[in-house]
Amino acid sequence: MSIEKTRPPHGGHGGQGITVLLKRMRDAVAQEVSAQDRLDLLTKVIASHVVADVCSIYLRRPDDVLELYSTQGLKREAVHNTQLQWGEGLVGLVAKRHSPMVTSEAPKHPAFAYRPETGEDPLHSFLGVPLIRSGKTLGVLVIQNRAAREYLPEEIEAVQAVATLLAEIAASGELLSVEETEAVGAMLHRPEKLKGFGIVSGVALGRAVFLQPPAPKHKVFAKNPAEEAERLEDGLNDLRRSVDHMITNNASLSGVSREVLETYRLFAYDRGWKDRLRAAVFSGLTAESAVDQVKAENRARLSQSRDPYLRERLHDLDDLSNRLLRHLSGEKNGGERDLFEETILFARTMGPAELLEYDRKRLKGLVLGEVSATSHVAIVARALKLPMVTGALDALELTEEGDQAVIDGDAGEIHIRPQSDVLESYRAKQTRYHELEAIYASEKTLPSVTKDGVNITIQMNAGLALDLPFLDGTGASGVGLFRTELQFLIGSQLPSVAMQEALYREALDLANGKPVIFRTADIGGDKTAPYMDHGNEVNPAMGWRGVRMAVDRPGMIRPQLRALLSAATDQTLWVMFPFITLAAEVDEIKALLDLEIDRARRHGKGLPKDIKIGVMIETPAAAWRAELIAQKVDFLSVGGNDLAQFYFAADRDSERVQRRYDPMNGGFLSFLKNTVEKVSQTGTPLSYCGEQTADAVTAAALIAVGVRQFSLPAAFVGPFRRLVRSIDVGEASAWMAEHSIAPEATLRPSFKQYLRDAGVVFE
Ligand code: PEP
Ligand code: MG
Repeated sequence: MSIEKTRPPHGGHGGQGITVLLKRMRDAVAQEVSAQDRLDLLTKVIASHVVADVCSIYLRRPDDVLELYSTQGLKREAVHNTQLQWGEGLVGLVAKRHSPMVTSEAPKHPAFAYRPETGEDPLHSFLGVPLIRSGKTLGVLVIQNRAAREYLPEEIEAVQAVATLLAEIAASGELLSVEETEAVGAMLHRPEKLKGFGIVSGVALGRAVFLQPPAPKHKVFAKNPAEEAERLEDGLNDLRRSVDHMITNNASLSGVSREVLETYRLFAYDRGWKDRLRAAVFSGLTAESAVDQVKAENRARLSQSRDPYLRERLHDLDDLSNRLLRHLSGEKNGGERDLFEETILFARTMGPAELLEYDRKRLKGLVLGEVSATSHVAIVARALKLPMVTGALDALELTEEGDQAVIDGDAGEIHIRPQSDVLESYRAKQTRYHELEAIYASEKTLPSVTKDGVNITIQMNAGLALDLPFLDGTGASGVGLFRTELQFLIGSQLPSVAMQEALYREALDLANGKPVIFRTADIGGDKTAPYMDHGNEVNPAMGWRGVRMAVDRPGMIRPQLRALLSAATDQTLWVMFPFITLAAEVDEIKALLDLEIDRARRHGKGLPKDIKIGVMIETPAAAWRAELIAQKVDFLSVGGNDLAQFYFAADRDSERVQRRYDPMNGGFLSFLKNTVEKVSQTGTPLSYCGEQTADAVTAAALIAVGVRQFSLPAAFVGPFRRLVRSIDVGEASAWMAEHSIAPEATLRPSFKQYLRDAGVVFE
């Protein structure tokens, strides 16, 4: 059998083709035959429908072995003989990565593991999709073809939809015997220690809750469609009521989370969705399986869309389907769920609005699969002081809802089902943390002056109204960076002038006279808004973002400036512009501000009594000419997150190059020193607001190169004040001057030793 190159595997009928295939799979499962025969029937159905030369199912056995359970196309004798370790061969890699893999030349792939007993010699193309259920990989579905061909995106989507149903069937115990299912379960219950990246420091203990809790096992087919239709109707009504309730009655929801929920409400009442769910129920499925099926069809349809807005909506639809599943099973959703007294939330990825939905008293920590230190969810987690670890995908795989978990946000460690001694030692570490917090609170009014009498200004970073209470709690002297784009990014549409003004006014009120530096929206780069067309840039971080977008499309910045001017009537307005590269850009952006000031005057509106204009130094071009820029503004702030990424040409969001992005590099520190010195000659104040100051050694090094004003995450204000009060700037600067020319990639170990020897409090 050879593949028709252009024919999609589901027969080219889009969602319709998948529906037919899924129906044939369900018919196969309904047959009164042995588990093995049922599997063989399934591989046969899939192979014929997707026109593959080979279709195989590997299932997970105890000790993480993947065993070939059924095949169409490989040699029969390989069944139950061919086994691959977790991570071994292409099949093992798919299981380990929990994500599909496709190659047109499997034998040339470095991970390829040849198994002669399968007779797979002539096969070139490989498409493997994990069977994932409740976040766990139960096996791998493999499609292979003789011809070296590229699988089309719609083919991959179709096979993914098949894998979703297959995982459902596997989890329902219809493919493995009871003993086999239990053995895999037992394997998932050992204590595990995993290493990831610590993103928000601190220790958290609690029980695991999944962002989208796994729906309980359910039957695939129903005997009585009318009864199922009634259950579906009830579930939908419950879902709609709960979304309405969350919008209208939950006072703890912020304006932006509310907007996200408004979008859910639109979908929850969508007629087309309901009709398709009912049709699936009347074809013989249980209400739960109908939800899964329509979800898979939506995925197949929407993920093909070129429209980024529609693709973004996929996430909403998935979330809504999961909510509906939980209503059908009587379980609860995100904000309304009963959390454990101490809860650790697990998720592959999540947005800041979703995080805000959870009960903050019970939520103690976060384990996320795929987010970076500077992502917005990380920024919100830091504001909430929620210890967070990321980058350990296995953690999601190996954890069950309700498992005891410990996360160490400093070491980047996660312990699942830890033994009692491990638990005890972390409890002790946590107590120490709380003691330190009390000490920081008691020291919040102490002057931030170094041992040799140098004044250091300590401000904090913010982006949401809920950050502001930390101003008082930490004793920070103001907000040195208020990231206004968070409001733009977490809503479903562009916030109106009134909404922007309300947020700025609230922030100023909460700051109670302390300065708040509003950074105008830095949208673009990694910060994409679903309702905006960002185009297809190869390097978005260096693309159309920050003031570039503001100057080219004033329609967005002008309303924001209007909102800022109005919110700060009769006060001092501190406004800061991001991503400047050239001094000339400062004139362009100031001209836009002047237009808004004129407009306010013409309309007889009140104005701030003073306006302080600043810009961020976050590109090497701006840092190199900072003295020219300094002469055009009232203040500067170094955005070290971006500046380091461009200095090292290392993506700040990429885990792979994280070690190449090290602000403790001597070259980077000398570069900063040069900028600081040039600016100090102009008399324009300069601060540092990059998040690298979350690391005390780096913060001390910045003092040593001459930085005297800092804006740092609220959680680090207390420890930083202690550091400031125990450091001797003269000595630290002399050390730095002597050592920063050292050829080592990083000064971290030697400077850390210096700080220890000098008795600086930083650990
Ligand atoms: C920075 O780049 O250091 C900065 C503070 O801005 P952001 O992290 O929001 O890009
Ligand atoms: Mg930046």
